[in-house]
Amino acid sequence: MNPSKPSLVEQDILHQLHPYTDARLHQEIGPLIIERGEGVYVFDDQGKRYLEAMSGLWSVALGFSNERLIKAAEQQLRKLPFYHLFSHKAHAPSIELADKLIELAPVPMSKVFFTNSGSEANDTVVKMIWYRNNAIGKPAKKKFISRLNAYHGITTVSASLTGLPANQRGFDVPLPGFLHVGCPHHYRYAKPGETEEQFADRLAAELESVILREGPETIAAFYGEPLMGAGGVIVPPRTYWDKIQAVCRKYDILVVADEVICGFGRTGRMFGSETFGIEPDVMVVSKQLSSSYQPIAAILINEEVFQGIADQSHAFGTLGHGFTGSGHPVATAVALENIRIIEEERLVEHAAEMGELLQAGLARFADHPLVGEVRGRGLISAVELVADRTTKAPMGSVGTLGRYLAGRAQEHGMITRAMGDSIAFCPPLVSTKAEIQLVLDTFGRALADTERWLS
Ligand code: PLP
Repeated sequence: MNPSKPSLVEQDILHQLHPYTDARLHQEIGPLIIERGEGVYVFDDQGKRYLEAMSGLWSVALGFSNERLIKAAEQQLRKLPFYHLFSHKAHAPSIELADKLIELAPVPMSKVFFTNSGSEANDTVVKMIWYRNNAIGKPAKKKFISRLNAYHGITTVSASLTGLPANQRGFDVPLPGFLHVGCPHHYRYAKPGETEEQFADRLAAELESVILREGPETIAAFYGEPLMGAGGVIVPPRTYWDKIQAVCRKYDILVVADEVICGFGRTGRMFGSETFGIEPDVMVVSKQLSSSYQPIAAILINEEVFQGIADQSHAFGTLGHGFTGSGHPVATAVALENIRIIEEERLVEHAAEMGELLQAGLARFADHPLVGEVRGRGLISAVELVADRTTKAPMGSVGTLGRYLAGRAQEHGMITRAMGDSIAFCPPLVSTKAEIQLVLDTFGRALADTERWLS
């Protein structure tokens, strides 16, 4: 090694500002450099192997070395590395992907609009609904309602939909007109003795009262992840979505399903909307859409929403919205191949089957003195750690136990994520039985370490 050349770690500390990282602490501890991936594993620059129990960022459905995805990207790069969709232009991969998404959608959808990320997609949804409501003569109908602890992204508008303090503190968001109702987490927010159904009734009543307080004519849409991901893998209480949707329909409020994590098999069905009985007017997909081999997201809108947008763009002579990378040919080609593989290899069914193993395996930790709740659906779950199971109190400040356990898991060769004191699991859809067992065993070791640490 050239002694005068700084190492990668030194260069990183010098010049990279990392997302979701304590920038000051990073100056001291530097990065963990991940060098390569193989199947469900990634390897650091020292050759240490980690089971990626989070699929990267809830997204690498097919694992880290899928040759077909690599070939799809290469072929498209050789044929047409870039073209755009502005001014009536198109190319085969984006057309075919839009067609495929409409075919897969759990409810009739009309049009697909592509973006590069989930945040941009949610920004786009808000703008499209504002645009459409102006077109249909409802210019006051502009507010959005989402939930506390929701995650919809980090651009100015999507961070306003998000309901997590970390994404809002210090950033001057949420913008006006973005309202948040209660988080549907029974374990944390139900009253003593309240059943899941009663809790769902209360949340639907709260939504209705917010709508009436603001005036139904001012509320454009209700926004929700079918199952909340980054907020802690929150599975809604029974009957929740039926009741929420009934309130929305009563007041002519659109329902937007943010399927960025749930989409493409994560919950054991193709979409989280199917798992939870949601009939959205607008859907947002990303992440497992391309297994994150390429950055891409998409919004699907129904015919009613499209008609307003079409009228408005016709009146103005153009739809003044779009990204250079909207429908990028390489990203759409990779996403198409990714969906082909998910279908051919029956990975949604496989995820349901492996999901049962994961959920049953984690449930075996439910009686552990440090475990408050085990929850999840399909191949996504969380274990919430507590210091006291009766009071549900954390140990010291929230996040202390979570951080420690995730650190131990990493030491034992598994990457998970601590969201506060909830440890998330979201292994690739291609995980085998043995790999799911390794997730469970490694979690068990990290939990035992945590118990020892406290004694
Ligand atoms: N929506 C949901 C449900 C997400 O989980 C995420 C990212 O984790 C986003 C939106 C934002 O996507 P991106 O990070 O691609 O902007």
